[in-house]
This record gives sequence, structure tokens and C-alpha cells, in this order.
Amino acid sequence: MKDLVLALDFGGTKLAAAVIDLGTEKIIGPVIQQPTPVTEGAGGTLQAMIHCGEQALAVLGQPQLVKAVGISFGGPVSQDRKSVLLSNHVANWNGARLVDEISRAFKLPAFMDNDGNVAALGEWWFGGYRKLNNLAYIQVSTGVGGGFIFDRQLYRGGGLAGEPGHYIVDVNGPQCSCGRQGCLESVCSGWAIAREGRQAISIKPGSCPALVRLSENQPGKINAAMVFEACRALDPACIQIVSGALNNLAITVINLITCLDPQVVVIGGGLTRSRDIFEKYFFPVVTEQMHPFFKGRCMVEISAMNGSELLLGAALLTTEKAL
Ligand SMILES: [Zn+2]
Repeated sequence: MKDLVLALDFGGTKLAAAVIDLGTEKIIGPVIQQPTPVTEGAGGTLQAMIHCGEQALAVLGQPQLVKAVGISFGGPVSQDRKSVLLSNHVANWNGARLVDEISRAFKLPAFMDNDGNVAALGEWWFGGYRKLNNLAYIQVSTGVGGGFIFDRQLYRGGGLAGEPGHYIVDVNGPQCSCGRQGCLESVCSGWAIAREGRQAISIKPGSCPALVRLSENQPGKINAAMVFEACRALDPACIQIVSGALNNLAITVINLITCLDPQVVVIGGGLTRSRDIFEKYFFPVVTEQMHPFFKGRCMVEISAMNGSELLLGAALLTTEKAL
């Protein structure tokens, strides 16, 4: 145990901390998690995360073996990757010098990037793709993020590259979290699919009997998992919601491939755990719409890492792989 780092994941809905051994490429001990205390703002969230990190180190028993901290942040960060630009989920993060705060709290060097880049890095190195030079990653969970590895390095552009969630797929589409209309995230994300489900049971309950039953006819209870389940039960309205969302995701993937010519596009995040739904409504569109040049040339895969790409990728931020 000589390459130990503390990995911290600031998500919009949950915080997670774990010690990673970069030598054996394993998470050491339990992943310490708690819901993000959204109502307490940035200050309360930071204190909660420091507590999670301290618990992860305490379980290890030998905190002095840990050499650095890697931070995944659920929102854009500054070009020098020292401060947070914004969180769409938690107030008062704007401009916070998070790297300095974490470094001071743990008395260790700290390194940060946004969660899309971190997940792309983790997926590339630990998800079975490290022999490839070019990978595009899209995270579809509560929101939609992403990151690109080009020539074996993260491509950051001026600092904000890799935001496929805010590619516009329908200029007249629903309102997005960024304030515009019709971004991919506004039609294919956990919150967008839940919103469509709520509308369906309010406006046309007869077309979604399974969703009415699953939610006990309470729109406030509906989440994306319920809409997926009602789609499996063949509710016409839910089939329409899910197939429409995944059609937009597939078109975004196709456009990314045409634009970037990566060797693989990996889709991760909570929604992709419903592999059967992706087989039915996502992959056929990808196959049908793929430009002939790219057929057999670029793979499109679902992540097999079950969410661990964020903590493992955060650990890699402390190495030269994240330069
Ligand atoms: Zn947007």
C-alpha cells in the first residue's frame, strides 16, 4: 500500500469519499456516502464532505500513508482547476477556492476537475479502454455530463470542453437547467424523464396505468426509474417518453462520432443501469443512423463500472494522467 490517495466526489444528490490504492487499482475500505445537504449551501456541503473524508481515512487506520486528494466536482470549474465556477444544485459555490479548502483540511496536496472529465478519465483507465488513444464519454444520470480523451489526454479546450448535456437537440424543446431550451439534458436526463412522467399522469393517466400504479397516483413521487419500469410494462405514454429521450441521446452520440472520430463512445450514469431499455430504444437508433464511414470503426458501449468511475477517476487526478 504505497500509492494511496483520498478521492472525493461532490455530486448534486450525494457526496462520496474513499481511499484508493493506485498500485493495486482498488478502493480500500468502504465508500463513505451521504446525501448532499443541498439546503445548507456550499459551506455545509464542504463540511459534510470533510467529515466523509475523515471517516474514510479513519477506517484505513493509517492516514499518514495517504499522499494526496483527488476531487470530482459536479459542475464547471475554473481553467486552472483551483476554484468552482458554479453548481446548478447547491447555492453559493460560485468562485469557491475548493482545492485550497480541501488541501488545508487534510494537510495534503489536492487536485480537482469537473465530474464529466473525471468520469471520462476513470472510464478510460479503469473501464477496460486504456489501450485506446481516443474515447468520448457521456454520463446520463440526474443531469448529463461528459468528457473526451484525445491522444491519451483529457481534452479540456479553454476549460469547459465536453458538455454534451447542453448540446441543443430541439430549439423549441423544454427549458433546460442552463436557462436555454431543448438541450440534451432537458429531454434525456433523470430530471427530464421524471418531469415528462409527471406530466403524463396529470394530463393523460389512461395512457400510463402502470405509472399511475407505481407512483400511487402521486406525481411528486415519480422518478426516472419509475418511468422506465412503466415503459417495460408497455404504458404507451412511457414508451413514448423513453424512446424519445434515448433517440435524442443516440443522435447526439452519432453527431459526436461524426465530429470527433473516437475509437469508442462510452455511456455511463444511473440511467444506463437499465441495459434492457438501452438495447431496445438506444442501440437500434445508433446502428441505423451511424454514418457509413464510421460503421465497424467506432464502438458504442455502456459502462460496466457501476458508478465507480468517479472515485477512481478522481484518484487519477493526482497523477500525470490528468495533466
Ligand atoms: Zn442546457
